[in-house]
Amino acid sequence: MATVHQNHPEREVQQLLHELRGRLQGSLLEPQDPLYEEARTVWNGMVDLRPRAIVRAGAVSDIDIVLAAARRSGLALAVRGGGHNVAGHGTVDGGLVLDLGALRAVTVDVGSRLVTVEPGATLADVDGATTVHGLAVPLGVISGTGVAGLTLGGGVGWLTRTGGLSLDNLESVDLVTPGGGHRHASGSENPELFWGLRGGGGNFGVVSSFTFRALPLPSEPLGGNLFYRQQHWKATLVAFDAWTRNLPDDMNPIISILVLPPQFGMGNEPWLMLGFTWAGADHQAGLDLIDQFRAIAPPDEEEVGPTSWPEWQKAMDVVFPKGSRGYWKNVSFSRLDEEVAEVVVGFASEVVWEGTGIDIHHLEGVFGRVPGEATAFPNRSARYWLNVYGFWRDAAEDERLTAFARKAYALMRPFAEEGEYVNFLGAEPGVEEANAARIAYGQDKYQRLVALKDQYDPQNLLRLNHNIRPTGA
Ligand code: FAD
Repeated sequence: MATVHQNHPEREVQQLLHELRGRLQGSLLEPQDPLYEEARTVWNGMVDLRPRAIVRAGAVSDIDIVLAAARRSGLALAVRGGGHNVAGHGTVDGGLVLDLGALRAVTVDVGSRLVTVEPGATLADVDGATTVHGLAVPLGVISGTGVAGLTLGGGVGWLTRTGGLSLDNLESVDLVTPGGGHRHASGSENPELFWGLRGGGGNFGVVSSFTFRALPLPSEPLGGNLFYRQQHWKATLVAFDAWTRNLPDDMNPIISILVLPPQFGMGNEPWLMLGFTWAGADHQAGLDLIDQFRAIAPPDEEEVGPTSWPEWQKAMDVVFPKGSRGYWKNVSFSRLDEEVAEVVVGFASEVVWEGTGIDIHHLEGVFGRVPGEATAFPNRSARYWLNVYGFWRDAAEDERLTAFARKAYALMRPFAEEGEYVNFLGAEPGVEEANAARIAYGQDKYQRLVALKDQYDPQNLLRLNHNIRPTGA
């Protein structure tokens, strides 16, 4: 393959792309291709970039080919799984996109409960393959999200208290390193790399396969939502803080505050929803816990009952269609007393449809019992993680709604603990990427991640991510 100079003159780039086209199992799209316009889009409609070329990988060997092309050409490389990265790291202006979205096979070994997942699989692909066997991998809550980005950053959802983060359920990972080597990483093989991959995002290589150990889950677990009008929010949040003190691991509650889409028939007012999944086989035990909450915080409306797992995992998809515009911020914290509840109610009252929402994930359980130093994920001790997110359609709202997310974050900072969750972070113009990552991981973990980056990607070939900057870069 021809070597392209760092300033990659167009003729040499064309030659490189021509050679790539001839070697790939998948396809290569350039701006003149009819499929290019759709292929360049990612979930976040605010990210409107034009890559020089998009490779739709057709086999793992295409990962090697594209990494080699990026090394030789100096073209910036973006790696894309499900394309949901809020900061838009799945694409790049003028560079190469390695789109793994066509590699989405999921294989379930029922006896061992091991689930092997290709790097382009979405949450729906995994749920579809595991549910029929009474199994589930803890993932996120919107079915089109990519397993790859979600898992490499963390993965919080409806089973976090029962099974931990997605990355806590990883048995092993296969990856292609920026230098072109193939590595298997697990607790016993390349354990330091395995540590960094579990939270450090796509900094150390392109993952070609994830192997998870699934949990048993009834195919129709108990789930539901209790709905509260605004005048009851503060009391409900304080009641939630008390109720969550003694919850069994099988109860997984998430509070959301948002104006619901018209399909829900809940009008134009914002609602506080206490959504939950009870992962236990005994539904009555879950209902008894919900009864306890109803007694201290009677809901205005509710829907509770057995639910098909794949359907439950898609229940909120309608809020987040591809092309939504979004800027997200997050904080971890442990107090939800009167003072904090008042602050939350203050900014949450401003959420709008189609626009912004707030989730408060209650953690602890299995998530909280994983030792903090076991993975690169930033913080295990916080009781809650608050995510303020956007899903608006109108570009004219960008400034106002981005400012809202920033304001909510600033108001929560006084109660925040160390660490931010990289998967709930938008692009931060003006903040140097390495500083953002240092804040997200905390100084100690960041330094350990830098040592790994020095080892696996000293040239920072994989830099379109929440970047761990190698020492020499
Ligand atoms: P992509 O944009 O495809 O990739 C993101 C980044 O991951 C890439 O830039 C790259 O750095 C890295 N990457 C992707 N594939 C690979 C690979 N094979 N090898 C190495 N690196 C790779 N998070 C949660 O925890 N829980 C949720 O419930 C949740 N819900 C969400 C709902 C929506 C609507 C959105 C937009 C996001 C949600 N997220 C959630 C956040 C989500 O985890 C992150 O946005 C994540 O980055 C998405 O992964 P992806 O593969 O779809 O993204």
